[in-house]
Amino acid sequence: MYVKECPECNRRSYSANKKSWICPYCGENLDDVEAIRAKN
Ligand SMILES: [Zn+2]
Repeated sequence: MYVKECPECNRRSYSANKKSWICPYCGENLDDVEAIRAKN
């Protein structure tokens, strides 16, 4: 899992891959945001 922090709403979203990442909260395109590998 990867985590990205949205620069628009500052909320974190999770995804299994890094392709076509859109913020689920505000709809911002997060493709240019660095993905962080999440540890469970
Ligand atoms: Zn957002």
